[in-house]
Amino acid sequence: MIPYQKMTKEELLKEQAVLQSAYKEFQGRGLKLDMSRGKPAPNQLDLSMGMLDVLTSQDVLACEDGLDARNYGLLDGIPEAKELYAEILEVSPDEVIIGGNSSLNMMYDTIVRAMQFGFVDSPRPWKDEKTVKCLCPVPGYDRHFAISELFGIEMINVPMTPAGPDMDLVEKLAAEDESIKFIWCVPMYSNPQGITYSDETVARFASMKTAAPDFKIIWDNAYCVHHLTDTPDRLMNLMDACKKQGTEDRVFIFASMSKISFPGAGIAAMAATKHNLDFVKQQMSIQTIGFDKIKQLRHVKYFKNIDGVKAHMQKHREILEPKFNAVLKKLDEEIKPLEIAEWHAPNGGYFISLDTMDGCAKRVVGLCKEAGAVMTGAGATYPYGKDPQDRNIRIAPTYPSVSELDQAMELFCLCVRLASVEKLLSEMN
Ligand code: PMP
Repeated sequence: MIPYQKMTKEELLKEQAVLQSAYKEFQGRGLKLDMSRGKPAPNQLDLSMGMLDVLTSQDVLACEDGLDARNYGLLDGIPEAKELYAEILEVSPDEVIIGGNSSLNMMYDTIVRAMQFGFVDSPRPWKDEKTVKCLCPVPGYDRHFAISELFGIEMINVPMTPAGPDMDLVEKLAAEDESIKFIWCVPMYSNPQGITYSDETVARFASMKTAAPDFKIIWDNAYCVHHLTDTPDRLMNLMDACKKQGTEDRVFIFASMSKISFPGAGIAAMAATKHNLDFVKQQMSIQTIGFDKIKQLRHVKYFKNIDGVKAHMQKHREILEPKFNAVLKKLDEEIKPLEIAEWHAPNGGYFISLDTMDGCAKRVVGLCKEAGAVMTGAGATYPYGKDPQDRNIRIAPTYPSVSELDQAMELFCLCVRLASVEKLLSEMN
């Protein structure tokens, strides 16, 4: 295989003809494949079925402190769930609030509260600021960006590097512009690249100067226990790093059980300093009397502790690792020698993200769709749905079976090749 950039026009035209006929053949197969969203596969959900049988009528009467889990009370969660999440997030139990089923919901509420009331250290509610801006490491998670967009918060792209966001740029922007109030981060096995922030990146987040006195780091640790290889990444503890610098009030950590137990029926958690949480709880107590404690108890009874969670995640890994390997193998075989795209082989998380040559991502996703494979929309990984270089594509390998993935990836690689050839030919004309 010759790298496409080294091919002559004649060679590219020949390659295009071969690819086009292979593509036509795919179109005739009537495929119906979906690699668009990071959903667990049904056999991953089966792993948690025991949770539905684990709770007896006696258990709900006796939480750790003797409280009746059936009744009102405990706005911030049952103590045993706070202890479990404290272990997972490496904070202390009084720095945890257990929420409902969705961490996205907790992040949304956090931004709404900031707009309406500000944080404990805000000079005024964010809605009363002339402009509110946030930093968005890109590519990133589309639903984070959608929250910012909904509230008219101006988003500033910060390119990701293999060690996390470009911290020179983060430090410069946060220090010089007081309207920059927060940054969206998925620090471990990031969505979509699967990158884990380096120790240096975490330390710089803790020590950086910010012009806004109420600057916040939204640390969405959605994939903190979602390892897929024998060489898992390690994420430095942001809360500890910030405490050393006296900046701990800038930290808001989020996580959920959505991809541990059941998406939509897991438990979500938020961690921050007691100073922050006391302020949040005042407002939360107007919104709800408390979340579902029976579900919290069910999760704790089933997992018991962090070791139980880790053992459970090992079973997820057994299902997911072959799927990630199937995707990476196809990319290595079909794309790597042609030097037309780049990607990172992640040690965990839910996605693989591929950068095509500039200007090819929309075309690749369109070609895939016309032949029966739905990918995440090109541009979705960028604020406002605009990938300035039109090159990033998110691959979600978790839901399809390995044999479906093999077919989908065969088609995907073909589409990447076809779009690249078209692009190179158009540049020659
Ligand atoms: N954060 C990230 C980075 C995610 O990828 C997802 C799910 N795709 C979520 C949050 C949503 O989590 P939840 O189900 O807890 O709302």
